[in-house]
Amino acid sequence: MKFLGRSVSRAISQKSFRLVSARPGGTAVDIEPGAVFNRKSSSITYPPGTSNPPLRSPTSDDAEAFFGLMGYREGSLIRDSETLERYNIDWTRKYIGHSQMVVRPKTTHEVSSILSYCNDEEIGIVPQAGNTGLVGGSTPVADEVILSVEALNEVHGFDSDNGILTCDAGCVLQSLHDYAKERDHLLPIDLGAKGSCMIGGNVSTNAGGQYFYRFGSLHANVLGLEVVLGNGTILNLLNVNRKDNTGLDLKHLFIGAEGTLGVVTKVAISCPKLPKARNAAFLALQTFDDVRRTMALAKSELGETLAAFEMMDKAVLKLVAAEKDIPVSVEDCSYYVLVETQGSNHSHDEEKMETFLETTMEKEYVVDGVLAQDMRQVMTFWYIRESCNPVVKDMGYNYKYDVSIPISDFESVIQEMKERLKVRPDAMVVNWGHVIDGNLHFNVTTPGDFEENPEILGLIEPYLFEAVVRRGGSISAEHGLGRCKNSYLGSLAKDPVSLDAMLSIKSTFDPNGILNPGKYFPG
Ligand SMILES: Cc1cc2nc3c(=O)[nH]c(=O)nc-3n(C[C@H](O)[C@H](O)[C@H](O)COP(=O)(O)OP(=O)(O)OC[C@H]3O[C@@H](n4cnc5c(N)ncnc54)[C@H](O)[C@@H]3O)c2cc1C
Repeated sequence: MKFLGRSVSRAISQKSFRLVSARPGGTAVDIEPGAVFNRKSSSITYPPGTSNPPLRSPTSDDAEAFFGLMGYREGSLIRDSETLERYNIDWTRKYIGHSQMVVRPKTTHEVSSILSYCNDEEIGIVPQAGNTGLVGGSTPVADEVILSVEALNEVHGFDSDNGILTCDAGCVLQSLHDYAKERDHLLPIDLGAKGSCMIGGNVSTNAGGQYFYRFGSLHANVLGLEVVLGNGTILNLLNVNRKDNTGLDLKHLFIGAEGTLGVVTKVAISCPKLPKARNAAFLALQTFDDVRRTMALAKSELGETLAAFEMMDKAVLKLVAAEKDIPVSVEDCSYYVLVETQGSNHSHDEEKMETFLETTMEKEYVVDGVLAQDMRQVMTFWYIRESCNPVVKDMGYNYKYDVSIPISDFESVIQEMKERLKVRPDAMVVNWGHVIDGNLHFNVTTPGDFEENPEILGLIEPYLFEAVVRRGGSISAEHGLGRCKNSYLGSLAKDPVSLDAMLSIKSTFDPNGILNPGKYFPG
């Protein structure tokens, strides 16, 4: 292990680390009917602030009909409460639905028949993929039917000349990475939940992830989609040409629509070649200005090889270090950064990285750092970064936010919020994020206390969103709106003309409002 200046006190050990698996599970959560669902009534009661289309609760007869539409295939219909729990409770364990049935179609035709039935019967339906979304989009608001795409999980082909993968929406992202890797390619999207999230969910949330800077958004990488609309119509947008200027490119409407316009059933995605070389460094910095300066230097010095630049603050790294066996000790620095390069020539890339690191030390932007010596160490750095989400979730109640802010305003937003939260010393602010994309994951946790506290929530919302918008940022960088931020869409995100246009598209593709009711759009 090579150290720069003073070493980060412990060297990378030879231990191997377990990669993060984000599959929901662990402690069972009691499903309380509460105010949102009246089991005695046949009508859905939506909580205030969410939309309330005239949908009805699905019945046992409907369940039987769904089962028939899927050929009475074993496992295609889930009704037992224990199994239902996994689909009703989201990853954050905050958004708990009360669905009494999950349908697991295996073909696009089955998806179409189910949606057509629900459209005619005015039954709400929640598309679900890996259920790792962080804004409550993937679980029902009340007792809507959950349509899981997990049984739609075949790869349909890989065009190795052009690097284009075509697959079903329910393919797990990690398995697609493995598939592409065997063919010397990779997926242009990677995130901590890759062991559970599915490509249909990634597309529907327009997920960003850690290599967004390198590969761009899914709008740039998804070439084609197959989508089933609210009334069951199958829209074949499965273009596999890199260039196609024939009419409106409708697929873009479904990328990031969070299941409100249609169910994505197939995806064609552009896959870059695997890089021949990957280098990574883990750096300790004293101030956020140092983070900014180091990032600017990384852009100019690492140039085309720069693949990722991730930030963690001291508070979150301390929590990770307390919970996980990680090979860095957290010293007095306020910020920590993971820089990765990807390229085609290891020694050339390494030389660039070393020059970059030496310059950061000379200019005193970086206090300390460590350069990965092999791929195992690169993966260890990512293990640290990817542990932020699960560690903070398991600490206590997690007030979780994902915002875009001009980089020059990152610190002032954090300070403004810390100031507001001063009256609650039990509320700990921890931050990390894809800083190179202007994306901050602002988190507040109450260690040991797993109940949401209305006072703390009231200190954060809507003030964080207002602070972000005042500085020209976005209230949702990559996680989406779901039912966490949908009520702010009209007030803090889109002007009335844009919102009207969005609503008219919604009524075109889902005229009866059966798809993901109570989410995304303001009530
Ligand atoms: C540990 C961890 C790390 C994460 N890191 C990142 C990150 O770096 N970047 C990032 O952007 N997100 C991140 N996320 C959030 C989440 O993983 C992403 O939003 C992911 O894309 C969701 O995929 P999923 O398959 O789990 O979808 P789900 O959670 O099942 O669904 C998400 C939304 O898409 C809709 N949907 C799902 N499938 C379909 C479909 N086939 N057709 C139509 N609508 C559908 C759902 O209704 C819901 O609204 C992270 C989450 C965790 C738990």
